Amino acid sequence: MNKPYIYDLSPTELSAWLEEQQEAPYRLRQIRQWLWRGCNSADDMTDLPKGIREKMTESFRFDAMRLKERLQSQEDDTTKYIWQLADGNVIESVFMRYRSGTSVCVSSQAGCKMGCAFCASSMCGFGRNLSSGELIAQVALIAKDQGSRVDHVVVMGIGEPFENYDNLLTFLRSCNDPAGFNISMRRMTVSTCGLIPQMLRFAEEGLPITLAVSLHAANDRLRSQLMPINHAYPLADLMKACRQYEKTSGRRITFEYALFKGLNDRTEDAEQLAAMLRGSLCHVNLIPANEVPGSDLHRSEPGAVENFARILQSRKIPVTVRRELGTDIMAACGQLRRMSTP
Ligand code: SAH
Repeated sequence: MNKPYIYDLSPTELSAWLEEQQEAPYRLRQIRQWLWRGCNSADDMTDLPKGIREKMTESFRFDAMRLKERLQSQEDDTTKYIWQLADGNVIESVFMRYRSGTSVCVSSQAGCKMGCAFCASSMCGFGRNLSSGELIAQVALIAKDQGSRVDHVVVMGIGEPFENYDNLLTFLRSCNDPAGFNISMRRMTVSTCGLIPQMLRFAEEGLPITLAVSLHAANDRLRSQLMPINHAYPLADLMKACRQYEKTSGRRITFEYALFKGLNDRTEDAEQLAAMLRGSLCHVNLIPANEVPGSDLHRSEPGAVENFARILQSRKIPVTVRRELGTDIMAACGQLRRMSTP
């Protein structure tokens, strides 16, 4: 009963299977087209002969990711998808519409081990890495459900993507495949809490994907309190790795900085951040923190957010404030979780 999930098969594996079944090689292209269209049953692959469809149903699993729930925001054009995986794990992804196009935020793990104090994803523990197929299927099934092209992919859902490096890369390359989703790598973003070895490895891949690094504090005392990973990779080392990343990849890093009331949103915090980032090829994305049940951290006042942004601007650091989408369905940054619905 341990059939492989059809979305997990690489083109090479699928070709080998077709050959074994003495089927024509061109069937590969047809099958992959169906997968990109979010097909989750061999019976629906109507341009394939019945014989192949039956063999596929026998050999592969098609329903390893089932839609458990779909929540539509009443405030904006955001939809949260809750998926039930074959082993009982539950994950979430989010579909958003911007003026610049549509975007899917995918989860990379069921749960998270990073333990950030402000993030719901850490609160339900860690299950496992998602397979490349489970990553790809999040995009394919959402595109199908929305009847829409996906223009952007952000790996900012549940989990730490760099803990699942190989599947992440298979996924990103698959999204880029011109025969499939054909999403430009320039429209992909991977967000990390700052795993230095993987950041440097990622720089070497030479892909024009945006790297986002979650900072949230500009001194070790506060960052360690918010993000335990800071004990392993403290700020001086992280900043050195970021400079190295910028040099190797020639690309600017996006620094994510969630603003918590009275904790990291004061004038001196902004000045400390500006000093730390001086001379770096970067962009700062401020996220007015989203409230998460079980955490006693609160969102900054709008005035504090404005003040923070103004200070960075005055130091010539490019800064944007992230629009909050989907807060009513717990679909905003830091609100996705492994097990239950809101
Ligand atoms: N593990 C990756 C992806 C996490 S989610 C990472 O750490 O970057 C994407 C962003 O949302 C991260 O910057 C994360 O720190 C941020 N985030 C988590 N909880 C949040 C909250 N309650 N409010 C605002 N942003 C939050």
